[in-house]
Amino acid sequence: MKKIIVLTLVVALFIPLVGCGEKSDKKISNYDISISLNADMTLDGKMTYSFTPNSDISSVYFSLYPNAFSSTAEISPVYKMDELSAYPNGKSYGDIQITTVKSRGKALDFEVTGKNNGTLKVGLNETVKSGKEIDIYIEFKVKLANVKHRTGYGDDTVNLTNFYPVACVLENGKYYESVYYPAGDPFYLECSNYKVSLTVPPTYVVASSLAPISTVWSADNTEYNYERENVRDIAFILSKNFNVLEKTCNGVSVKYYYYGDKNPEKTLDTACSSLRYFSDKYYRYPYAEYVVAEGDFIYGGMEYPCLSLISSSVSNDYRDYVVAHETAHQWFYGILGVNQNEIGFFDEGLTELSTALFLSEYTDTSLDNYVNQAINSYLSIREALVYAGNTRPPVMDRNLKDFSSEAEYVMIAYNRSEIAFNDVRKTLGDAKFFKFIKGFINQNAYKNVTLKDFEKALNKTSKTAGKVFNLYVNGEKVVQKAE
Ligand SMILES: [Zn+2]
Repeated sequence: MKKIIVLTLVVALFIPLVGCGEKSDKKISNYDISISLNADMTLDGKMTYSFTPNSDISSVYFSLYPNAFSSTAEISPVYKMDELSAYPNGKSYGDIQITTVKSRGKALDFEVTGKNNGTLKVGLNETVKSGKEIDIYIEFKVKLANVKHRTGYGDDTVNLTNFYPVACVLENGKYYESVYYPAGDPFYLECSNYKVSLTVPPTYVVASSLAPISTVWSADNTEYNYERENVRDIAFILSKNFNVLEKTCNGVSVKYYYYGDKNPEKTLDTACSSLRYFSDKYYRYPYAEYVVAEGDFIYGGMEYPCLSLISSSVSNDYRDYVVAHETAHQWFYGILGVNQNEIGFFDEGLTELSTALFLSEYTDTSLDNYVNQAINSYLSIREALVYAGNTRPPVMDRNLKDFSSEAEYVMIAYNRSEIAFNDVRKTLGDAKFFKFIKGFINQNAYKNVTLKDFEKALNKTSKTAGKVFNLYVNGEKVVQKAE
């Protein structure tokens, strides 16, 4: 964590890639989604999810993220202390109702269950053999809360992310159910191909993570048609106030949708420069478009494949930092996936270090300075937590439920993890570090990796660096003030 639409028939300059499926001997799944936004801030949606399971299954699970915003959710999507900034117009609720589930014309039984009613379980009426394609058709209705969050609307933007039933990852014959906690990013997603039709009132400008294919205008609404292959998720940020700046960087069309930014050229330049930097250091940015959108959001920003949401509340140098941070997530989360519910520190720490590495070249602030800021933040949060009686060792690989506050999450997933990856970098030396990270991404692009996968690869490169990293992860390494 930590933005004018054009024409008919713009053919996406998508560069064909090796699909998730092809790399992990699993066929890539497909979403075909059609949604329309109504004036009362509800969405009517239909989708078909097609996939080929790699084990015998008799049910399919989906995450229902909008139910995290329901009045009956057991876990609030924001901490108490953040409620005023998340709900400036008063407490508001949203949810998702599933109205129809079918497969090839036949109705299927389904149940909405789990924490926050966050899981849709669909029965298949039979055991479907591994390797046989399954289509699930779902109709749904979403009510958006008036909340400055991932799914909701504020005074300036409508944030349409995580609004559709999202397929849960099937591992060893079992589905992983993500739970929406206020700390971190409760996502574990596989790459899929998407076709989306979005219909909105004509007054909105749409920032989309997908490649535009065609637009149909009528008096009452505008229908946008999009596609994108091989991405983990999709996102739309809508506003009646968007201005748009665009430039091409490294062959990628980079667009910035903004309404409050006093220096939009600078923000666009940061997006471009960081995209170029990470492309050079790690892996060529594989899509034809990258979008940055300003929006109503309680945190600094939020990453989606090909789109970064940047809160309108951040400005100046902090905005550059957030833009670079969310851009780095295109690699650490987007291209290289992990289960963020369990090891949120992994992508955040690599993203934080990458941001510091980029900014140390892009600005006058040195890398040591950035790392020292992380050390100081870590030590002051730790001191405050211990003072308040929280003496839990700083173990890094813990589920989102095991964070008592946003501050504790920042301390572990951002600060300690950045410091850990920086120590790995110092142990290996820059040349070997970048070679290792580049190699690891190349080997695992579009897949999900585990902590074990990373540790195994790191130990193979350097046992010393592996030991250094492990001492941080298991909580033993004591972080000390820089000299
Ligand atoms: Zn982040």
